[in-house]
Amino acid sequence: MPPAPSALHVLEHVFGYTAFRGPQQDIVEHVAAGGDALVLMPTGGGKSLCYQVPALLREGTAIVVSPLIALMHDQVSALVEAGVSAAFLNSSLDMDRARAVERALYDGELDLLYVAPERLMTPRFLDQLDHLRDTGRLALFAIDEAHCVSQWGHDFRPEYLQLSILPERYPSIPRIALTATADRQTREEIAQRLRLEDARRFVSSFDRPNIRYTIVDKQDARRQLLGFIREEFPSDAGIVYCLSRRKVEETAAWLCEQGVNALPYHAGLPAEQRAEHQTRFLREDGLVMVATIAFGMGIDKPDVRFVAHLDLPRSIEGYYQETGRAGRDGLPAQAWMAWGAQDVVQQRRMIDESEAGEDFKRLARNRLDVLVGLVEATTCRRQHLLAYFGEDAAPCGNCDNCLNPPQTWDATDAARKALSCVYRTGQRYGAGHLIDVLRGERSEKVLERGHDQVSTFGIGAELDEKQWRTLFRQLVAREYVAVDHERYGALALTDLARPLLRGEAEFLMRLVPERDKRRSKRPAR
Ligand code: ADP
Ligand code: ZN
Repeated sequence: MPPAPSALHVLEHVFGYTAFRGPQQDIVEHVAAGGDALVLMPTGGGKSLCYQVPALLREGTAIVVSPLIALMHDQVSALVEAGVSAAFLNSSLDMDRARAVERALYDGELDLLYVAPERLMTPRFLDQLDHLRDTGRLALFAIDEAHCVSQWGHDFRPEYLQLSILPERYPSIPRIALTATADRQTREEIAQRLRLEDARRFVSSFDRPNIRYTIVDKQDARRQLLGFIREEFPSDAGIVYCLSRRKVEETAAWLCEQGVNALPYHAGLPAEQRAEHQTRFLREDGLVMVATIAFGMGIDKPDVRFVAHLDLPRSIEGYYQETGRAGRDGLPAQAWMAWGAQDVVQQRRMIDESEAGEDFKRLARNRLDVLVGLVEATTCRRQHLLAYFGEDAAPCGNCDNCLNPPQTWDATDAARKALSCVYRTGQRYGAGHLIDVLRGERSEKVLERGHDQVSTFGIGAELDEKQWRTLFRQLVAREYVAVDHERYGALALTDLARPLLRGEAEFLMRLVPERDKRRSKRPAR
């Protein structure tokens, strides 16, 4: 037998790259040797090669589970172009094409087969896999976008849950699960639901050091944006995100009037116009795309110099993904956002009034709270962002809070009261109830639970409800308390809470300018 080709050899001769990036080589070698892996790597980090190279190193066909038809198509085209025998099976194929792919699979002609999860789980397909296994031609399983298995995420796919049968049915076949979006909790959920508790974990840094983060208090957002563009990037490419289609169009038109070369993009525009704007953005220099979040997925433009948000994104993950489209070339880039308390009120209302179930609403509210924690933060933004992905980092020196530390008030005392109230009531209640206890409200629930008898009842009358809300959001955002999604948003203390409770740490919060205080009163409905 000829010696097996090395990973590097495959990388060079098939993919045309000279070196692995970051943890790729470790991952490739681990999986090629038959190990299970859970890979967390930011978008653009190079996840595909982590299973494509082992697929070519191992005997037989690698099965790649992917939820996105468009992505499957792109990946397979690229592989075929590189001379790899790859195909996909999903609902976009007609019967004849699907049969041909199945035939090739059966005959062992494929190195990689991309398949939608619902297809993988059909008895017919599993029979084919059994055949491959029995003839020693099942190379590995790759589970892309593994966070789709999380019931608490926005991309939940029920079919992903069934992937847990793979290790039972094919115990000797290595599995590699990959995702770019997973906070700590989601990570554990992936490991558990996919039965990858014992898999080796490869966690890459999510830091994008060349992106400077700035979040300003919203006053006249459009003018502030214009000032930012003129001052920092008068002739560079950028993306401006807005929440609504109408605002996209108005903002694009207004920017054009002000002499900025801007184009609108949202799902309501005719397909030809969308395609044309996208092509122009990619080809021409210095265009500003004003868009809803419909724009950006799969857009690979390395020299986007800034991403601006005129509205609050829906979650920290959304913020990270959207801002991550800036500075792919590694050169200095900026993420800029204008934020006001009215945005939060508006988004809360949208959640409250949506048709979604109560569980989903509660989750959406929690996600929003974590994001609000980031915008209200007084310390390094990057630290906050990375903490969300479970990473510890030193203050970065490349965000607004590092460069111009904001004015703060010492909230240590209030934070200690809040934490102690969480503890005294048994770490089983959400912020609303805890605030009632702190403020000494004899609500029905307070009386029912006897919480007018606990030592923290009424010790926090000096702050109003809104101030306590802000404080709890910050406690959540900075991970002094954890939210239990499975128990109705109940708050529990984390390890970080202890030093604060013992008086060994202080807790500072951003001082809200007078102007904003006035504005953030509940608007009339
Ligand atoms: P992800 O799936 O993590 O978002 P991809 O696998 O699509 O990332 O890779 C992102 C880009 O980086 C692709 O254009 C890919 O060709 C490139 N890339 C990945 N690994 C390497 C490498 N070792 N050397 C050079 N380019 C790489
Ligand atoms: Zn910083």
